[in-house]
Amino acid sequence: MRTDLSSWLYEGLRDLSLAYGPPGSEDEVVGLILDRLGDAAENHWRDGMGNLFVKIRSGKGPRVMLVAHMDEVSMIVKHVDEDGFLHIAPLGWLDTRVLLGQRVVVHGKRLIEGCIGAKPPHITTQDEQKIVPSFKDLYVDIGASNSEEAASLGVTNGAYVTFPSHFSRVAGTRVLGKSFDDRAGCVSVVAISRLIHEERVDCELYAVFTVQEELGLRGASTIVNQVSPELAVVFECTVAADTPGNPASEYVTRVGKGAAIRVLDSSMLTRRDVVEYLVRQAENNGVPYQLQVMTGSITDAGRIHVQGRGVPTGVISTPCRNLHTPNLILDLRDLECVVRLGYYAVANASSFLSSHV
Ligand SMILES: [Zn+2]
Repeated sequence: MRTDLSSWLYEGLRDLSLAYGPPGSEDEVVGLILDRLGDAAENHWRDGMGNLFVKIRSGKGPRVMLVAHMDEVSMIVKHVDEDGFLHIAPLGWLDTRVLLGQRVVVHGKRLIEGCIGAKPPHITTQDEQKIVPSFKDLYVDIGASNSEEAASLGVTNGAYVTFPSHFSRVAGTRVLGKSFDDRAGCVSVVAISRLIHEERVDCELYAVFTVQEELGLRGASTIVNQVSPELAVVFECTVAADTPGNPASEYVTRVGKGAAIRVLDSSMLTRRDVVEYLVRQAENNGVPYQLQVMTGSITDAGRIHVQGRGVPTGVISTPCRNLHTPNLILDLRDLECVVRLGYYAVANASSFLSSHV
């Protein structure tokens, strides 16, 4: 894997992002993660929330916890009307403006394709075109003629609705797909764990894959007391707004400019010595990085760093365009930067821990 990290990451991201993992139903992702970890996993368990814990190393060195969330922004059926249309509610933060006309997958007895209906422009007034729809205005059409036909397909209240799987290489080293948030983080944690295992780095390492992050960091609420880490690093896929119409001051991060080290978001102000430690690892090892300050987002780190006696926690992210939409674009070179930086952050953790109490 070390000799061919980029193609390993390409395949890992492809397979993990093609899987479905709506909040509360992350089992398919769990299976793929355990397959990819292979013999790097010493043992594993799942807690009462469904979080997956994998022990990677049992050394005498620092106890480090790597974290990524398995769930993806999704929707759920809240009502099937008599004409067979599905009324939906969001599971996670979705902008209804990007949902109109989208294809979706409804998780019934089998996966059933459908679409979020949109009024054709031919019959839409100019005033209507200015209105941002709310979830109560949206519906999913799976072609059912009535609620009985939907029920016969296993589509009733509580059925999950996700964006359809797709993955393609676009220009250069960039890829287009769904659920990179946070399968990019999952594949990063798997890759770092494999590297630490292969290099026999002296540490006690846990890889933790959380559930229900998109509903407000719920899975991460229970993880610290099961591991008691001395250092935690969360791996995310984060906003890159380096697109037409946005001033440079609003980019947050830029695709192709390296791993994003988070300084501030609305759930955590990263300890200054943690930021400096991660920056030092990047600079000492020639890993391109960017510093991220963003008030409009949260990560599992927001829940982790305030648990127990407090946990020094960092966040390293892969920049990604169109976050929380069906069509995300990231650069595989950034993903590789995240993995390399994460590896050095674990391998040199003793230098961080010895520099303060
Ligand atoms: Zn995320």
